[in-house]
Amino acid sequence: MIIGVTGGIASGKSTVARAFAALGIPWVDADDVAREVVKPGEPALAEIAARHGRRVLLADGRLDRRALREIVFADEAERRWLESVTHPRIRERLLAHLARLQARGAPYVLLVSPLLFESGQHRLVDRRLVIDVPEALQIVRTAARDDVDEAQARAIVAAQMPRAERLALADDVIDNGGDEQALGAQVAELDRRYRNLAGSPSVP
Ligand code: ADP
Repeated sequence: MIIGVTGGIASGKSTVARAFAALGIPWVDADDVAREVVKPGEPALAEIAARHGRRVLLADGRLDRRALREIVFADEAERRWLESVTHPRIRERLLAHLARLQARGAPYVLLVSPLLFESGQHRLVDRRLVIDVPEALQIVRTAARDDVDEAQARAIVAAQMPRAERLALADDVIDNGGDEQALGAQVAELDRRYRNLAGSPSVP
């Protein structure tokens, strides 16, 4: 069983993943895998370089993510082309990572993905767990963690999928408007449910 974990910026995805890990549940981070498939030597990077040339490469041959982001931000067709090159490879590698974790005996595994719904990765999972947080708190936590002010944090939140839309797609919801203890209690409860669903009850 694969649980997809998602939420907006600073909603608590990493914190939730660590809480599940403390209960013995491993996770794969979709962002890590998205970076893996465009490393030097990877076919996706070769295709991107063949299309856009040296302007999307750094001097050492790695992908210039900022340059590529500017190209696809300005051109919808280029964004779709890039996704057609990267998404299938990300999907394949995610599934391979998740299968490896399950083969090692995990009762269930997590796919942590900021863009679970937007990328179509929700189709790879059995349940969708949304971490929900009031926007005001999300903005405060973003500004406290990242090097941005509250106005910038607000703009990032506004550019993401609206809270209500994400919630409407959820099978399960964690309310991360409280403290870390409240978060831990919700994770423990979900872990019990997921183990039961996966047919592997927790040790009493
Ligand atoms: P994400 O991975 O979704 O971007 P994080 O797990 O990194 O979010 O959490 C964002 C920030 O908010 C981090 O600095 C984290 O320590 C903090 N945080 C997360 N949950 C809570 C909570 N319940 N109470 C206080 N701070 C929290």
